[in-house]
Amino acid sequence: MLKNPLHRILLVMALLVGLNFVYTYLFPRQPTEPVAEIAYSLFKQKLNEGAIVEVTLQGERLSGVFAGKLALTAEQVAAGRFEGEQLFTRFRTVMPPVEDPNLFPLLEKQQVKLLVEPTEDRALWMSIVINLLPWVLIIGVWWFIITRMRQQGGIGGGFLNKFGKSGAQLYSREQSPVTFADVAGLREAKQELQEIIAYLRDPGKFARLGGRVPRGVLLAGPPGTGKTLMARAVAGEAEVPFFSISASQFIEMFVGVGASRVRDLFTNAKKNAPSIIFVDELDAVGRARGTGLGGGNDEREQTLNQLLSELDGFAPHDEVIVLAATNRPDVLDTALLRPGRFDRQVVIDRPDWRDRVKILEVHTRKMPLAEDVDLERVAKGTPGMVGADLQSLANEAALIAAREDVERVAMSHFERAKDRQLMGMERKLFMSDLERRITAIHEAGHALVARCLPNTDPVHKVTIIPRGQALGVTQQLPEDDRYHFPRSYLLCRMSVMLGGRVAEKEIFDETSTGAQNDLKQVMDLAEKMVCQWGMSNGLGPLSYPRGEEHPFLGRKLAAEKTFSEKTAWIIDQEIKTLVNLAEECATAVLAENRKTLEALAEQLLEEESLDFQQLESFLADKTLNFPQKSCAEMRHSGKSIKETD
Ligand code: ATP
Repeated sequence: MLKNPLHRILLVMALLVGLNFVYTYLFPRQPTEPVAEIAYSLFKQKLNEGAIVEVTLQGERLSGVFAGKLALTAEQVAAGRFEGEQLFTRFRTVMPPVEDPNLFPLLEKQQVKLLVEPTEDRALWMSIVINLLPWVLIIGVWWFIITRMRQQGGIGGGFLNKFGKSGAQLYSREQSPVTFADVAGLREAKQELQEIIAYLRDPGKFARLGGRVPRGVLLAGPPGTGKTLMARAVAGEAEVPFFSISASQFIEMFVGVGASRVRDLFTNAKKNAPSIIFVDELDAVGRARGTGLGGGNDEREQTLNQLLSELDGFAPHDEVIVLAATNRPDVLDTALLRPGRFDRQVVIDRPDWRDRVKILEVHTRKMPLAEDVDLERVAKGTPGMVGADLQSLANEAALIAAREDVERVAMSHFERAKDRQLMGMERKLFMSDLERRITAIHEAGHALVARCLPNTDPVHKVTIIPRGQALGVTQQLPEDDRYHFPRSYLLCRMSVMLGGRVAEKEIFDETSTGAQNDLKQVMDLAEKMVCQWGMSNGLGPLSYPRGEEHPFLGRKLAAEKTFSEKTAWIIDQEIKTLVNLAEECATAVLAENRKTLEALAEQLLEEESLDFQQLESFLADKTLNFPQKSCAEMRHSGKSIKETD
């Protein structure tokens, strides 16, 4: 029968509503004419006067009919709210609790028709039910809450017990049939994890050989690269229960709860052994202790201690493997990484283009694709994207196709999905002609500097349609995945970033606020070049923490200074030198190619967007000049550009 208490409550309520309905419709009330509610004394008086012709007795209630219409004042009628008098034909009263011996003789004397009706049982119990309804509801809701709390171990299991439960999701093979086939690429990671799978499938084999299998495996890599997916695939391949929890779920405002949740999780996993525990975002509890950051969180440290001791506390026969994922292995407490705990690290890195093709294949498996779809081209045009991005790209392409009401997802849908992902969503924004022209000059500046300088990525698209936060976008995409970024490349990149602002200056002799984001990026890059990559001439190959992101907060923070005021001054000078160098080059490029810049801006105003091919064919008959002297540090033997000075 109904096991869910909520369903039971709903059933009771439905029954009551049904009964009320039946009562109202099957036994409709008499059409009402005003009935005077009068005092027993008045009734007796009217009876004596012979003004009553009929009386009905029903228990202690007495009702009847006057002889004709009787005028009564408001005072004579209980709850009478009328002015002066009103005519009534019927009345009602209540008999006194003490029996009136004169009543019946008087009725007989006045020859009143006397009717006696049984007390209205039906009405009585209906009114009882209706009176009880709110109580039933209150008790029902209360009962529901209590039952739920009990199920979750609240009442009866102790109040804190509820918090002490780990809350980990348990997936079995049937619920989560993820296998390695669903994880595209990541060949090395899969190979490393094969050993774990072999162990979980046949734990005895390793014991027989006296080997020790790593108990904890840390999956480290940027967000969205498939760490969670990989962990689930390991469970799916090994066909064992999979307990999944995010480390932040351990932490509650009560001290001690996290530790008890960790205990509960490990106890459950051991009960279901062989099994896998997966702790996502391990850095939420696993950050190095004693830093005083994160609010001096005692609770976090206690939780971490408990986790450490649980990892230590595995008996040789506990066939439980702990997988954990983090984006920041660098901030983890070293105690977590020592042998016997998470002693194996598997790096889940950003996919290269070949892996991106495979990921796209996985996520387009169920999509009807048009013939022109070239996943390899999509993959090559999405450098830096991770699995989660590609999944969302494929999904976006399908949505665009659905919006167009077509049968198959075509290449153009993928292109649009890609642009949307890389450059943000198109915005409808009213811009004056002047503003459009400023934007066109700005974007043409970026594009032209990118096209003229030798060591840059090809311009994938340049547009003056507002997208995301930007009024226009110039998108460059590398031809291949890059792992090394030479100094000349970075300088060129800075020049390209400054190209927009420099173009505005060149044409309008004034700059605008449109370059704010460009300047920020230039500054960040220059700071890294000087402080992290030793690329400045004045400072040399030294690395300073300035400009580094804070390891715990993922953003910049006033880090402890490890250098002198003088060094800080030199750093500032070097950053300035690099930015000036980049600006000088961009200025020279645009001054040398001013006519082309203006023509390109005109073309942009006309077309709004130019892709790589369109840009190339536009520039095909133009001569691009490269100011060799001003851009000496950017030089690279690459494209066939005429060098002028
Ligand atoms: P985070 O660090 O933010 O938790 P994560 O690395 O755990 O991210 P997942 O949650 O595993 O990333 O991946 C997000 C989604 O991206 C997955 O649901 C999956 O669909 C897709 N994905 C990521 N990598 C791959 C891959 N190699 N093959 C197929 N799909 C992938």
